[in-house]
Amino acid sequence: MPYSFEFGHNGHAVLSRLLAQNAQWASDVDLAESGFFQQSAQGQAPKVLWIGCADSRVPESVVLAAKPGDIFVHRNVANQVHLHDDNVLSVIQYAVDAVGVEHIIIAGHTNCGGAAACHAAAQSNAASPAPSTPLGRWTRCYNWSRRT
Ligand SMILES: [Zn+2]
Repeated sequence: MPYSFEFGHNGHAVLSRLLAQNAQWASDVDLAESGFFQQSAQGQAPKVLWIGCADSRVPESVVLAAKPGDIFVHRNVANQVHLHDDNVLSVIQYAVDAVGVEHIIIAGHTNCGGAAACHAAAQSNAASPAPSTPLGRWTRCYNWSRRT
C-alpha cells in the first residue's frame, strides 16, 4: 500500500527514499505472502501492547521480528506511563477492552536520552520554575510522583 505525500524541497530526498522503500516493502510482502494486505484490512487481534520509547533505534516490529498486526503499540519519549496522561491511558483501555490484548510490555532501552532527561529532572530542584516546553514538561513528569 504505497502512500503519496506533498512535501517541501528540504525533505524531498528523504521522503522520496522512504516512499520508495515503502513501495518496495509492500511489493516484497505481497510477493512473500499473497493476500496479506487483504487479510490485514479485515481487522487486528494482537495479544501484546508494547509501550516503548520514541527513539528511532528501537522500533518494536524490527527488534521483535514481528509482522504488522502482531503488536499494538504506544511510544513516547522514555516509554513513560503517567496516570494523568489520557493518551497512554486511552491506548491501554482500547488495547485491553476493544483489541483483546493480554500482555503489556513497557520496554526501555540502553542509552535512552529521554530517561536521562527524566533522571536529571528528578535530581533538579523541585522549586525550579515550570518548564516552558512540551518536552521539558514531559520529562519533568517523572518528578510529579515525588511532589504529590
Ligand atoms: Zn529512549
